[in-house]
Amino acid sequence: MSGRDALVELTRLVREARRPVVLTGAGVSAESGVPTFRGPDGLWKRHRPEDLATPEAFARDPALVWEWYNWRRQRIAPARPNPAHRWIAAYERANPEFLLITQNVDGLHRLAGSRRLVEVHGDLWMVRCTCCGREDEDRRVPLPVPPRCPECNGMLRPGVVWFGEPLPAEALSRSAEAVRKADLLLVVGTSAVVQPVASFPLLARGAVVVEINPAATPLTPFVDLSIRSAAGALLQRIPLPGSPPAGTKALSPSRPGGAP
Ligand code: NAD
Ligand code: ZN
Repeated sequence: MSGRDALVELTRLVREARRPVVLTGAGVSAESGVPTFRGPDGLWKRHRPEDLATPEAFARDPALVWEWYNWRRQRIAPARPNPAHRWIAAYERANPEFLLITQNVDGLHRLAGSRRLVEVHGDLWMVRCTCCGREDEDRRVPLPVPPRCPECNGMLRPGVVWFGEPLPAEALSRSAEAVRKADLLLVVGTSAVVQPVASFPLLARGAVVVEINPAATPLTPFVDLSIRSAAGALLQRIPLPGSPPAGTKALSPSRPGGAP
């Protein structure tokens, strides 16, 4: 299918969907300048994220893990939502059955206005006490290393889900149910290798599955439509239900005498 045909097809699917689900990964924030884990810009010092974002790494060297999270907070703090985040938020406003499932922890979907969203891997701006369990939003950049609980002085940890930890049960069941019921599943900017989220698309029963990613992923052979493109550049060309088709101007009463 040509690029043009893929756009026409996606436009139709978006317009006709009654229960759309969008599933995003780090790639949706790439155009906001947030590095992905597996991209060329994705390394930190000499450690791999997979070795740092684990309960074992935190038990071994909490200061190192917190330094890494401070570095990520620093990178993410100035980032702003890009056209992909904004398009996804607008799709939610146009469709009452919409759900967004994101693996991202950067908070950019929320900043763009998304409200019906499940952040399956948590939120980088939340901290949780390892002793009393208290949770707070804490936007300081950088945090003191290691940060301490204001209540019990226990050590705080990032409010995210690490490799090897289970997803919160409610996030998991809400996401799985939405995918099962969906009639359209847009998978945007995920390498589809981090489980269990990578398997969500396989739960889809009646959905047309569309992948938007500049690179192929393990999911690509299983999707109905694969569009190799950066997310923001593509999605901003897809008109939403209730908006005028792309490339046409909204009709306005003609003004005698032409230009003002
Ligand atoms: P990943 O880094 O493994 O993969 C990123 C994917 O995005 C790749 O397939 C890449 O081809 C694609 N991509 C790159 N630029 C893109 C663009 N402009 N438009 C669309 N796609 C683009 O990320 P993942 O699959 O989300 O999984 C890794 C884990 O990393 C997740 O658990 C997530 O929580 C975490 N993570 C989050 C952030 C964030 O919050 N922004 C950043 C890095 C990693
Ligand atoms: Zn505490």
